[in-house]
Amino acid sequence: MEKLIFRFNNQSSQSFFKNKDLLGGKGANLVKMTKLGLPVPPGFTISTKVCEYFYKNNKKIPKKVIQQVKKEINIIEKITKKKFGSLSNPLLVSVRSGAKVSMPGMMDTILNLGLNDKTVIALKKRTSNGRFAKDSYRRFIQMYGNVVLKIESYFFEELIENYKLTKGVIQDIELTEEDWDGLIQNFKDVIKEKTKKNFPQEVNEQLWGAIGAVFLSWNSKRAKTYRKINYIPDHWGTAVNVQAMVFGNMGENCATGVAFTRNPSTGEKKLFGEYLINAQGEDVVAGTRTPQDLLSMNKSMPVIFQQLKKIFKLLERKYKDMQDIEFTVENNKLWMLQTRSGKRTARASIKIAVDMVQEKLISNKEAILRIDANTLDTLLHPTLDEKAEKKIIASGLPASPGAASGKVTFSANEAERLKEQMQDTILVRIETSPEDINGMHAAKGILTARGGMTSHAAVVARGMGKPCVSGSSEIKIDYEKKIFRSGEYQIKEGDIITIDGGSGKVMLGEVRTVKPDISKDFSKLMNWADQYRKLKIRTNSETPADTKIARDFGAEGIGLCRTEHMFFDGERIISVREMILSKTLDDRKEALTKLLPYQRNDFIKIFKIMNGLPVTVRLLDPPLHEFLPKTEKDVEDIAKELNISNKNVKSRIIELHEQNPMLGHRGCRLGISFPEIYQMQCQAIFEALAECKKKKIKPVIPEIMIPLVSTAAEIQILRNLVVKTAEEIQKIHSIKIQYYVGTMIELPRAALRANDIAKYADFFSFGTNDLTQTTFGISRDDSGKFLNDYVENKIFNKDPFVSIDERGVGELIKIATERGRIQKKSLKLGICGEHGGDPSSIEFCEKAKLNYVSCSPYRVPIARLAAAQAYLKKNKKYK
Ligand code: ADP
Ligand code: MG
Ligand code: MG
Repeated sequence: MEKLIFRFNNQSSQSFFKNKDLLGGKGANLVKMTKLGLPVPPGFTISTKVCEYFYKNNKKIPKKVIQQVKKEINIIEKITKKKFGSLSNPLLVSVRSGAKVSMPGMMDTILNLGLNDKTVIALKKRTSNGRFAKDSYRRFIQMYGNVVLKIESYFFEELIENYKLTKGVIQDIELTEEDWDGLIQNFKDVIKEKTKKNFPQEVNEQLWGAIGAVFLSWNSKRAKTYRKINYIPDHWGTAVNVQAMVFGNMGENCATGVAFTRNPSTGEKKLFGEYLINAQGEDVVAGTRTPQDLLSMNKSMPVIFQQLKKIFKLLERKYKDMQDIEFTVENNKLWMLQTRSGKRTARASIKIAVDMVQEKLISNKEAILRIDANTLDTLLHPTLDEKAEKKIIASGLPASPGAASGKVTFSANEAERLKEQMQDTILVRIETSPEDINGMHAAKGILTARGGMTSHAAVVARGMGKPCVSGSSEIKIDYEKKIFRSGEYQIKEGDIITIDGGSGKVMLGEVRTVKPDISKDFSKLMNWADQYRKLKIRTNSETPADTKIARDFGAEGIGLCRTEHMFFDGERIISVREMILSKTLDDRKEALTKLLPYQRNDFIKIFKIMNGLPVTVRLLDPPLHEFLPKTEKDVEDIAKELNISNKNVKSRIIELHEQNPMLGHRGCRLGISFPEIYQMQCQAIFEALAECKKKKIKPVIPEIMIPLVSTAAEIQILRNLVVKTAEEIQKIHSIKIQYYVGTMIELPRAALRANDIAKYADFFSFGTNDLTQTTFGISRDDSGKFLNDYVENKIFNKDPFVSIDERGVGELIKIATERGRIQKKSLKLGICGEHGGDPSSIEFCEKAKLNYVSCSPYRVPIARLAAAQAYLKKNKKYK
């Protein structure tokens, strides 16, 4: 029979301790911690399979499962010597969700289940602690009311707040047993009013209500949003963990806390966490009381602190990773409630991986595979300029590093709305909750008035790689007036502020940024990656400044130098326009002669920086009308310059207009119609080489790339043009020039005819942007209108312009690679386009046996790492 329930302390379950698909992350780790002999309260996991049945069977639980759960509860009763629903010694349980990957704060958990009007009295007697019993009961009613009965927690919290106000106290902890008695009655009234039913007193009804609610929470709006953002499949489902309660809220020798075995922000190898004495579960993350630094536990509970330190060490050794841990202390006894690999910033993930290699916990291959290459992005981007003037208006905890500036907004929806208008925002909240996920995703940074380093805002922001300052208690937010105050400052919605999540500072206005410092650990990791990767990494770059950045980041060549960008610069656009507006070949040639020196100089500069590395130069690609004036004034200017009438210019613009420019008179089609343009460009390249030779600059072997080829005849003709031009320059300068001629493969026909085309090409570069457009017949510029619907309806898994569509576009790449190499064994293959910097596309390129990928300068380190990961994964060389 299929195993659906897994008892933590049972051998046959313990062989499943790695099976997160079945047990979910939380369940699998509870089983594993139990197996390691750690103090875990007894309990069991209901597998994700049951969640699947639940949804397939009209949201009903199979009978078999109901019986088994009953049996498991009996077993917990035996171990704890308590009884579920007992009037003398009641067992209380927690019902906890747990999916395969952790979705912090996304799913629901219910504590203290099993309390009712009678068992609460039994609990009071048993513990001789009436306050504790009532506090637990009101928490249970609150959670059950919220999670199962769907009553907004606001209704309960408001009652507590108002009561505290009339009583004149500030902290929950100041409320007595009698106070809670009254509130419990009020809570029950709220439930009666909202659901027209009494709060359920029957403990089994409570249990199944809670289990059902956990399953239902898998499909709550916030869980769905989180999955969409993080590419988590909808079909996984969640497991449910039922576990005996232990109590951190029974008095001064009780506590509850969360800890990271290393600092999740910086990666520093130092305990990091927070705890609260006499508190339960969520109090630490909820931000209702400000928690204490875990290190101070060394004084308040020294024995427990030492025990925790030992356990942390053991867990790190077993999991070989930094752990995020939840624990509770009940009457001086420590209980472990959760462990998982902790979320961390990009900076921390590198430091931890590199440190763990040095500590011999993991190999450098494992270190490489552990880093999410995409997150490097956050490290390579600018940080606040130390020298810039800063008006600091508040400070808080440095919860997630990085700097961000934007307009202040107080609601998640507003942040989303502004994002659609391309506006940068800082989301400012008293504290965040899972409902704010959308807005946190939309905002550039997050600032909260309450909550610690492990608050919801902090954890989620670190996961997203977004700057966050949390717990800035100086700021007083008024949601209604849409302002916040901090000392003498008053900030309105829409005002610009800057936050620095590395220092916890909040500043007025936009603060200047500078290039980031690259850490030693980062370089070490990159060196390891370079040892393993096979793919070469080039960059897409046409300006000396970009080329320099890319070289500093480790680019091994230029994979795409777009010459049209050079045409727009300064005064040359005039000569470009003159060339386009020319009526005769002679006029055109004259205009081209003026452009020649500009192009030559551009190439000299780039060749110099590249110092012998390969440079792929793409000849003119866009349709000519792109260069024509767009405004009335530009029309007048060029007419004056060329001494022709405005009317003439305009009629030429109309003549050149195309219905469908992407498929129009562009790419090699220009070279066929106006060979003199390509001829000039080649001349510039070769003369630049001659010049470099004279100046003793290390010679570059240029790769001249002909765009938008679809037939062998096109490249045959244009190749001849390149060869002829080269021969002429060689003769004039009496030098030998080395170069390659190749083509961009960006049309499906070219991929299919790769065999013929390779006769005339030394290399292929897959222009995956255009190849994606032409394979799908989707225009990238217009796809915004429906791409979302396609992702929503699961027609597309991911945007094909971000990650290569392996089954279609990828198939064409494979065909072209195979056919091309059959024709010419030495054919060099690479890709350029946005995909060159996307880790999953890079993995595909490694599998397809390409020689290199080319990406934008800032993505070069990402590509280096991703290429090493791809190689290690492909060859399963990470063991
Ligand atoms: P999340 O996935 O949101 O972290 P958990 O299931 O871990 O939710 O529950 C949240 C908190 O509830 C835990 O950190 C812990 O403090 C408390 N908790 C859960 N189960 C128990 C239990 N059996 N005894 C005491 N506290 C518990
Ligand atoms: Mg937890
Ligand atoms: Mg193209």
